[in-house]
Amino acid sequence: MSAEAKFTPKMIGIICNWCCYGGADLCGVSRFQYPPYIRLIRVMCSARVDMKHIFRAFANGADAMFVGGCHLDDCHYITHGNYEAISMVQLCRKLLEHVGINPKRLRIEWVSAGEGIRFANIMNEFAAEIQKMGPLGKAEGINEIELKTRIEEVTKLIPYIKLAKQDKLALHIRDNHDAYNELYTSDEIDELLREVPSYYIDPEKCQACMTCARRCPVEAIISAKGQVHVIDQEKCIKCGTCFEACPPRFSSIRKIVGEPVPPPVPEGERAVVRKSKEKEVG
Ligand code: SF4
Ligand code: SF4
Repeated sequence: MSAEAKFTPKMIGIICNWCCYGGADLCGVSRFQYPPYIRLIRVMCSARVDMKHIFRAFANGADAMFVGGCHLDDCHYITHGNYEAISMVQLCRKLLEHVGINPKRLRIEWVSAGEGIRFANIMNEFAAEIQKMGPLGKAEGINEIELKTRIEEVTKLIPYIKLAKQDKLALHIRDNHDAYNELYTSDEIDELLREVPSYYIDPEKCQACMTCARRCPVEAIISAKGQVHVIDQEKCIKCGTCFEACPPRFSSIRKIVGEPVPPPVPEGERAVVRKSKEKEVG
């Protein structure tokens, strides 16, 4: 037996309750065969699948991911969530490509509840393709540690990526489904990840009004009365809310792109110098 034939990929499918799961069920009842190592997870709608689910699966060693939903325009919800699913998957495929992972490891397909044979065919074809491709990372020539680091870096940026691409992620291109294949370009993704902003509170300007800390959605701002505020860069999801919220008379928050963020002010040195007092001393 060759080394390739011995490789059993870890494959995960997240499929919608109403159509694709019905197709998988019919596939089983009809005794159509597909590889037993494809693990299926049922969700109510393909739009429920988040970018984080996909990257978490790859970070945990999945060799391939499959998203299955109802045919476009057959979604059981008025939201037509499968349009959002296809946009999200196309974005993830570009991100995978950006970090050096073969984007063909992520696939989205539509299967109705009456298409048991179609479900089996897709699973068999996808499994054969992944088996031929080989294990995640190894096939791409990326070692395990490097692969994990790259996936973690993108995972950390998912909230920022979702915000930056929110318009495209919400698009419903109903008259031209093929347009999804070119919705995101490699250059666009390279630029997006090159220009990731960081936010920094200028200790000389911060007046500890606490507005930013109250508005931060992830509690990434270290805040105390009378103390210069500090952004915890590890927690920050780069949403820019604090930048918008800091009152113009203070303008204490800087948006930094392409250069390192200054180190935080040490804990014992955060007492605010009130602007009025500063003037008196001068
Ligand atoms: S950019 Fe967003 S997440 Fe980061 S500190 Fe500001 S409000 Fe919080
Ligand atoms: S909103 Fe501006 S001035 Fe107020 S605490 Fe935050 S950074 Fe400081």
